[in-house]
Amino acid sequence: MAGRSRDVTDEIRSRVGILEVVSAHVTLRRAGRNYKGLCPFHSEKTPSFTVNPERGFFYCFGCHAGGDVFDFVMRTGGVPFAEARRELAERAGIRLDEGAEPERRAGDRERLLRAVGEAAAFFRAQLAADAGRRGRDYLAGRGITPDTIERFGVGYAPPGWDHLLRALRARGFEPAALEQAGLATGRQGGDGYYDTFRDRIVFPIRDLQGRPVAFGGRALDDTAPKYLNSRETPLFVKGKTLYALDVARAPIRESGGAVVVEGYIDALMCHQFGIEGAVASLGTALTLDQVLLLKRFASRVTLVYDADAAGADAATRGIGVFNEAGREIGTAQDAFTMPVSLFGQAELPVRVAVLPPGVDPDSFLRTQGPERFRSVLAAALPIFEYRLEVAMRRHDARTVEGKVGIVDEMSQLINMMAHPVRQAECVRVLAERLGVREDAIRGELRRLGTRDHGRRPARPAAATPIPESSGRTAAEQLLVHLLVAEPGLRAPMRRAVTAEMFRDPGCRVLAAALLGPEAAEEDAGALRERLREETAISLLSRFLIAEPPVRGDMHKVAGGCVQKIRLCDLEERIAQLMDAHGEAVRAGDDARRDGLAAELLKARTEKERLRELKVSV
Ligand SMILES: [Zn+2]
Repeated sequence: MAGRSRDVTDEIRSRVGILEVVSAHVTLRRAGRNYKGLCPFHSEKTPSFTVNPERGFFYCFGCHAGGDVFDFVMRTGGVPFAEARRELAERAGIRLDEGAEPERRAGDRERLLRAVGEAAAFFRAQLAADAGRRGRDYLAGRGITPDTIERFGVGYAPPGWDHLLRALRARGFEPAALEQAGLATGRQGGDGYYDTFRDRIVFPIRDLQGRPVAFGGRALDDTAPKYLNSRETPLFVKGKTLYALDVARAPIRESGGAVVVEGYIDALMCHQFGIEGAVASLGTALTLDQVLLLKRFASRVTLVYDADAAGADAATRGIGVFNEAGREIGTAQDAFTMPVSLFGQAELPVRVAVLPPGVDPDSFLRTQGPERFRSVLAAALPIFEYRLEVAMRRHDARTVEGKVGIVDEMSQLINMMAHPVRQAECVRVLAERLGVREDAIRGELRRLGTRDHGRRPARPAAATPIPESSGRTAAEQLLVHLLVAEPGLRAPMRRAVTAEMFRDPGCRVLAAALLGPEAAEEDAGALRERLREETAISLLSRFLIAEPPVRGDMHKVAGGCVQKIRLCDLEERIAQLMDAHGEAVRAGDDARRDGLAAELLKARTEKERLRELKVSV
């Protein structure tokens, strides 16, 4: 059965041209062996969306969306695999065996989704029923209209221990399954289950297709915790989800702008007042995954936080993440000898809008109205200026100590920036505001730069295949790129590397698939079938669309990558040993010192050997 469904999938793939399917959504122009157009998954002005008809894959160098023809239909239509397959089969004139459910990208997930969907319906019905009066009164008291309640599927979990358990059991869901979906909690001692959400307003957290995957529950009184989120499940990873993005994605794509607030009710109220690009971060700090998710739809982001300490701190941590997103891509670009366009459009401009102390978007909107809120959004400051304002408030810029404190704080931020031009501009602004020389600030940056080894910027890559200056990540990526592009390398490399050698999570998953015994003869479509993680699918698509950035004997280049990775590991080991050795010397621990010295010698000898080795696989 499984084999048959796979055959049909392959047949669809070979009969339906990806170019034809994509062309219905995107105007494509030929560029060499690829076709390019404006990305349908994020807003952009210069085309970074690329299709390779020969390989049957697409990839966007801006938002990193990628995949095969099924992925394209799933993404544009917001439909699950089974439906995309049905649609494409029809197009290809292939009759699907109704009994053969495709096992790919389905399974357990579907069952959990059904359970959470049923629970959402139950909570909605409870809010409308007599039992939901408390909930309705609460929502009315907060000024949330019936329209908004309906649109966001807000519900009510009644008090008591097993209302949901009993209701869903009647529909065939066992308690254990509900626990897996985060809806029930096992009693201590393993004796039965109880409802996770009790006497709370529940906000369904929905995926991009609008299907509930989890809930946020708010207490109606002073019960702690005030907010209770579903725990993480196979459907719901907190740091990878943004509340209300299912509703906000279309307006965000249209206007390009996203507004990030903290709470569920903040997000609801924004929508109620016509701020349609609003999403909530489901916690205080944004994660890198959430930023990358936003980047699929938004071309600029405004963070709205209250001006109180917690809010300012959250905004600050969020900013670290936006910087990281920029740096991740920026560094890769530096480290590779690749055309800039390959990584392209890495920027997601972020501004911070500050509300008066103690005021959140919800109360601001209700008391001041949407027009005032829009002016606050319009007055949002770029990250650097926002942080400078915060620092100027914290320190007295008229004193030397105050200046030192401000420069210290701001230098750390400047050091995190990916772009040298922006760094220079920020140094200039900071010097001007404080009335100090730019040199003094650059000196501070250098001091921090040498102390912070992890953040040393990569030197521009030399024109050799594996530049000495490029890091582990570059070597990892290039190696995986070669394994994708040159199937003949896969079998021999299986003897030289293991997936565990790769640190980058996407590279590791993709490498595991490429180094499997079945991979030697596999084409790209079959490889795609075996991948589940979006980062790995995106990476596969990118490596299928972009030529490897090197020429010559690919076996030699791949061997060089392995050598580079091993050398980096050894260098790290040597640095650790040296630190430990220094400590032992200071502590006067002679035995430990001698032991470490012997290990150091061994590691250094190994490094010399590796350096001289002409690796070929
Ligand atoms: Zn894109």
